Amino acid sequence: MPACEPSFATHEVTNQPPPLESYDLFGSDRALVEAVLREGGAGAAEPLHDFGRWLGEASTIRLGEQANRHPPALRTHDRFGHRIDEVDFHPAWHELLRRAVAERVHALPWAAPASGAHVVRAAKAFLLNQVESGVCCPLAMTFAAVPALNDAPGLAEVWSPKILSDVYDPDLRPVGKKSGALVGMAMTEKQGGSDVRANSTRAVRAGPGEYRLTGHKWFCSAPMSDAFLTLAQTDKGLSCFFLPRMLPDGSRNAFRIQRLKDKLGNRSNASAEVEYAGAFAWLVGEDGHGVRTIIKMVHHTRLDAAISSAALIRQALAQALHHAAHRTAFGRRLLEQPLMRNVLSDLALESEAATALVMRLAGTFDRAGADPAEAALARLATPVAKYWICRRAPGAIAEALECLGGNGYVEESILPRLYREAPVNSVWEGSGNVLCLDVLRALRREPAAADALLAEAEAARGADRRLDAWIDALKGELRQTAEREHEGRALVERVALALQGAVLVRHAPPAIADAFCAARLADRPGRQFGVLPAGLGLEAICERALPRSS
Ligand SMILES: Cc1cc2nc3c(=O)[nH]c(=O)nc-3n(C[C@H](O)[C@H](O)[C@H](O)COP(=O)(O)OP(=O)(O)OC[C@H]3O[C@@H](n4cnc5c(N)ncnc54)[C@H](O)[C@@H]3O)c2cc1C
Repeated sequence: MPACEPSFATHEVTNQPPPLESYDLFGSDRALVEAVLREGGAGAAEPLHDFGRWLGEASTIRLGEQANRHPPALRTHDRFGHRIDEVDFHPAWHELLRRAVAERVHALPWAAPASGAHVVRAAKAFLLNQVESGVCCPLAMTFAAVPALNDAPGLAEVWSPKILSDVYDPDLRPVGKKSGALVGMAMTEKQGGSDVRANSTRAVRAGPGEYRLTGHKWFCSAPMSDAFLTLAQTDKGLSCFFLPRMLPDGSRNAFRIQRLKDKLGNRSNASAEVEYAGAFAWLVGEDGHGVRTIIKMVHHTRLDAAISSAALIRQALAQALHHAAHRTAFGRRLLEQPLMRNVLSDLALESEAATALVMRLAGTFDRAGADPAEAALARLATPVAKYWICRRAPGAIAEALECLGGNGYVEESILPRLYREAPVNSVWEGSGNVLCLDVLRALRREPAAADALLAEAEAARGADRRLDAWIDALKGELRQTAEREHEGRALVERVALALQGAVLVRHAPPAIADAFCAARLADRPGRQFGVLPAGLGLEAICERALPRSS
């Protein structure tokens, strides 16, 4: 540089970590890899590594940022005043969805049924959620719609090939002209979301199996989907319908998007208020038994809500560990500071337990068809896991955010996005209390579910005295507390910890299982993360969870 030219360099940038990118989200997550192998997904290890590497590329991480920085916009009318009800998305949204549909995150077990297919799909959803959660909403709903749609075989015959396709086709066309289709769900109305029996939308018969729907839905996410499973009242009561956005003759259905919600998080995804102005729909399942049909969809979306929250916790932990491994304070790396190591280890336990439980749960979906005990476990463990993991996520993510100090509060770190995203998984598909009531109902009415739960816990007996004592106490409580609504949360929490403890004691490295039992099943010294007692293998816990860039 010529001597006379001024230098703008005021300082050298030091002690800032490199970005966490160019890494394999799958391969660098040992808890996930081991769970996938254990639960029957070993055959898909290579595709999972491929997907994990793609998601870890800087350019893919950037797609996640862009999709959230440029949220969808509603265009209700065209320039001439005709209603069009279109939602415009940033190209990043479409690119992420294109790859996700090609990976069949929306349909793998239905499109290619095989042992372990649910586990592999769950692992893919777990990986994708870490980079962009918004796209996982339409993917989860489409995945979940299939079992409910099977209640209408004629419809399934026409729609299934499009739903199971690995082509993402965002264009608005009748189903016959599409190369792929996505399906949403519209249940919630202004006067009640949990209490869907209060739905006021009316359905009037228009022909064999055909109806006209008039009313509204207060929340309808992914409104650009090709069709929706929805609820409306017929003369026989609440019934389930399949409502296409385009009619077979190529005209638009009377499905009006009133406005998009201005949401806390989940900003890449659109969630709309819609009205049905005599909208055409087909009946699905039995007239007057809509809840029985749509609950099949809800059972599957609950699985995905739990997966999503486990993934958000994992990504927050990965960012926190990565930062602490590179950042120095008071002469030592943060990771080596005893109190920071305590916090990070505690978060790693949370992440390991959440990952192990959701993958165990995904395994029950694979085995449910052939094994009634696994089906019974899935019935109970789904609301339990959804309740517990979704409730734990905001606190765990807030703690991980603080591990980055001020950097964690800044958008570019991804932590704010994870933090804003977390509560929605707890709200939708059955809010916390509603899930606890569902667990109590299952305990009262389905003895096989309680038996399967206890068998799952008992399979771990003998390895850790704290877990054994926990199971003994739980046995006494299960049937009594099922009658006591106000204790629902306390019971579900105990069940969740028993399930997590059991899976970790059986399968996790001893340092993890020991620390989990000490921290979650023994008398706890405090209520925050970072209060693990002395004498646990914290170094090994952090080392196992640390993500590594290639
Ligand atoms: C971003 C977003 C997207 C959404 N997308 C969709 C969608 O695509 N399709 C769709 O159908 N819905 C969607 N929802 C709606 C969501 O499913 C509902 O908000 C949820 O089911 C709760 O219903 P509600 O809002 O009417 O609250 P309410 O049902 O009024 O519940 C309010 C609170 O009361 C609690 N509660 C209810 N009953 C009881 C009881 N008996 N005992 C104790 N506590 C109780 C609930 O747990 C909750 O905490 C979405 C919501 C959000 C936030």
